[in-house]
Amino acid sequence: MQKINDLVELVFSGLSPLVIEDVVDQGELIEVRARTPNGPAACPGCGTQAMKVHGYQWRTVADVPIDARRVVVGVRVRRLVCPIRSCVQTFREQLPGVLERYQRRTPRLTSQIGAVVRELAGRAGTRLLSALGVLLSRHTALRVLLRLALPERPVPRVLGVDDFALRKRRS
Ligand SMILES: [Zn+2]
Repeated sequence: MQKINDLVELVFSGLSPLVIEDVVDQGELIEVRARTPNGPAACPGCGTQAMKVHGYQWRTVADVPIDARRVVVGVRVRRLVCPIRSCVQTFREQLPGVLERYQRRTPRLTSQIGAVVRELAGRAGTRLLSALGVLLSRHTALRVLLRLALPERPVPRVLGVDDFALRKRRS
């Protein structure tokens, strides 16, 4: 059994800030069930370490494909209560590097998509990503591309508005 745990840690090393509880074979995709560690987390409002759990929420993010299959990570995230009375009441913990705010993909998957769409824009990029096990609409590919730092090619204003609206949406 220890060997299986070692293997899970090896394969999902990019998710090491999380506690992986289960890996489920769902056929065309691999589902990873994880949670955040139990330790304290800093309040974004005042920096105080908070421990008291107010409740739990589930977040789902896509990770880099494994075995040519999509990987979806379901993470149980805590909503914590800041102990300082004058501060924010509750906040959802963040895990930089694994779970970024408003993002539905892990940073390492976003970075891989970025590398492809930077070279192959439009349908060519999404076709290649699909062959690699990453499902992505052309629209999303464009958004990833726009989020990359491209100082010499300013983002057209009309696309910027669309991008802003989509990123602002909270799910
Ligand atoms: Zn606080």
